[in-house]
Amino acid sequence: MRGAWRLWSVNVSEIISYAPATGEEYWRGDISDVDAEVAAAREAWPQWASTPVTTRIELCRRFVNEVRAREDKLARCIASETGKPLWEARTEVTTVINKVDISVKAYAERTPQRTLDGAVGAKMALRHKPHGVMAVLGPYNFPAHLPNGHIIPALIAGNTIVFKPSEKTPATAAMLVELYHAAGIPTNAVRLVIGGPDEGKALTAHEDVNGILFTGSAQTGIAINRSLATRPDKIVALEMGGNNPLIVWDTPKYDDVATLIVQSAFTSAGQRCTAAGRLIIKADMYDNVIAATKKLTDRLIIDEPFANPAPYMGPVIDNETADGLTESFLTLMSNGGKAIKHMARPKADLPFLTPAIIDVTDMPERPDVELFGPLLQVIRVESFEDAIVEANATRFGLSASLLGGSPDQYNQFWANSRAGIVNWNRPTNGASSAAPFGGIGLSGNHRPSAYYAADYCAFPVTSAETEQPRASIGVGLKDIQGELTERETN
Ligand code: NAD
Repeated sequence: MRGAWRLWSVNVSEIISYAPATGEEYWRGDISDVDAEVAAAREAWPQWASTPVTTRIELCRRFVNEVRAREDKLARCIASETGKPLWEARTEVTTVINKVDISVKAYAERTPQRTLDGAVGAKMALRHKPHGVMAVLGPYNFPAHLPNGHIIPALIAGNTIVFKPSEKTPATAAMLVELYHAAGIPTNAVRLVIGGPDEGKALTAHEDVNGILFTGSAQTGIAINRSLATRPDKIVALEMGGNNPLIVWDTPKYDDVATLIVQSAFTSAGQRCTAAGRLIIKADMYDNVIAATKKLTDRLIIDEPFANPAPYMGPVIDNETADGLTESFLTLMSNGGKAIKHMARPKADLPFLTPAIIDVTDMPERPDVELFGPLLQVIRVESFEDAIVEANATRFGLSASLLGGSPDQYNQFWANSRAGIVNWNRPTNGASSAAPFGGIGLSGNHRPSAYYAADYCAFPVTSAETEQPRASIGVGLKDIQGELTERETN
């Protein structure tokens, strides 16, 4: 199947994924029966919800052992199926491993049990309960880490899971689910749905699904939100994309700045929700910053995941995506953009792209869209205030970074930046799972994931409790005829 133009394909009954770096078929499997998978997870739920949390946590820890035992195999699967370099796939596996400890801590901190004093000597108990069956819809760029980032907190909280991975990365998902089951997590507590958007829609609409934990594009997230407009009973967490800005202000450290720019824009071939898409540079620094960035970009090795020497980045996910990005680059050019580095397609019929940099300062109307690939737009500005206005000129709001600048300028940037991640002298990407992760605007629906995932995996229940019934009514009662009320005898 080498050279296949669609590097994933759906026919009536099965999904096939292709390795982006070779074009060869990597995996195929039948499309799942959504109703049957939801029914299995629904049936398993009461048992799982009443399993002590310590046991649920223990089983998640065993999952870590299973991942460690097959660390290399999982990393190779991720690298093959996404095209990302092996070293990067290994860091994804490490994140999967670390998720369990972080989620245990977050569960205790974000959804704790508390006792409060109530009326008439009663105790008030605050506890949290799971929602039920959660549908987890995953993207292709982190096919293990991001779904796992919903699944582990949801399992710990006592939910059962129906996981539908991206149709572009089903092999990684199948392996992940095998590892949950190998750890002893009941097979019906985590179900795998192989499928595409249709199966995603069916899960979202399913009467027996209580929540949708989605990571993917804003376009899909909005469609999910719209389809659930009359279903406030379903919990919906939307982790969506960005059009993230990087400002460069007064600093003589051009090489460090260039490194941070390249890391922000081109790591994972630009296929990160936190990738920098817009570089905003103080006008008098422009020449030096661009020269250093161009020089470093020219040195990046772009190759298949297992190549030696190791590449910095691999291909994008498929040929359609590569075509779309090339078209976007040409559209920017024909609308006033000036190419600093052209986007090239070094291997015919495969989705490798060279990183592109384009100056769009003179473009009258710049499109505010997420270009999910190695494509960086540059804008020159004169004042720091203009830089912040430019940074906020987006409907998205995931991440934003300032490189250089004074502490006062960082304070100003931090205060005025419209984003959920605001960094100083650090890349826009590479966020820690030990912190909340989410954005505003079209980047999310105010249900941040990572450390705060615990919040959307359970709901609070308050209970007033005493061991014996004891009650009296002090006022407003008629006397019972012929008898004295208790009050009158006292
Ligand atoms: P996508 O939106 O195309 O697909 C995501 C998932 O939704 C897939 O499983 C897909 O099959 C399913 N889906 C598609 N249409 C659906 C529908 N109408 N109803 C229900 N499900 C549907 O996203 P993608 O291309 O796989 O991933 C890349 C996107 O994900 C980028 O926009 C990126 O920024 C974003 N992303 C966000 C985060 C974050 O945490 N905020 C992290 C990684 C990626």
